[in-house]
Amino acid sequence: MAKSTRRPASRSKPAAAGPVGGKRAATAKSAATKSKPTKSKPWTAAEVHEAFRRFQEANPEPRGELEHLNPFTLLVAVVLSAQATDAGVNKATRELFPVADTPAKMLALGEERLRDAIKTIGLYRTKAKNVIALSEKLMTEFGGAVPRTRAEIESLPGAGRKTANVVLNMAFGQPTLAVDTHVFRVGNRTGLAPGKTPLEVEQNLERVIPPEFMLHAHHWLILHGRYTCLARKPRCEVCLINDLCRWPEKTV
Ligand code: SF4
Repeated sequence: MAKSTRRPASRSKPAAAGPVGGKRAATAKSAATKSKPTKSKPWTAAEVHEAFRRFQEANPEPRGELEHLNPFTLLVAVVLSAQATDAGVNKATRELFPVADTPAKMLALGEERLRDAIKTIGLYRTKAKNVIALSEKLMTEFGGAVPRTRAEIESLPGAGRKTANVVLNMAFGQPTLAVDTHVFRVGNRTGLAPGKTPLEVEQNLERVIPPEFMLHAHHWLILHGRYTCLARKPRCEVCLINDLCRWPEKTV
């Protein structure tokens, strides 16, 4: 399991620099995130760099928490994780993946047994259908391998932009940035990359995050949202970036 970003790191004062966060106020509303829009001064380039320097210092090699054996099982795990927790998905896939770690083996397992294997995960009937359908498509159109382009991944049943971003990043090392509920909340609450939709937050994050941090930015932000900047009760007192955060309701 990847480490959280709980541990405060030493902080150096960021140098002054021009604004990079754009002038838009965050007007994002998300019942799921419980974060209010942050209308604030945009982060400077130096502040953004400093934030990610601290994330990197605290956790140089962040890892995703979805367990998988190869690109195919990662793809399946991400499809199963929609509206479910990583822990819940891992519990089910620990027994599933050793016997179905390729599209061919998944098809051999069949929809009924797959459904049974993942029945503890929400929306399991639809997800089982999608996993079988995407396995078929991988066999017939991609030679049994997970494709490496966004458009191709997004063409698979049950896979959307977030799935493509996670697979491209974790399986193929591309500097993509998937915006889930945690990243959406952190982007808006901190004022780092406000946006009304996940896509807007994604694009704003891509615009402000220095290239050298892009590969791991997704995990740092997810872990920050999952373990520190919690939806209901953010742990501002131990937050690595509490001096940079623009959220008016922060507790430090
Ligand atoms: S200071 Fe609080 S609200 Fe701001 S990023 Fe840190 S935990 Fe979140």
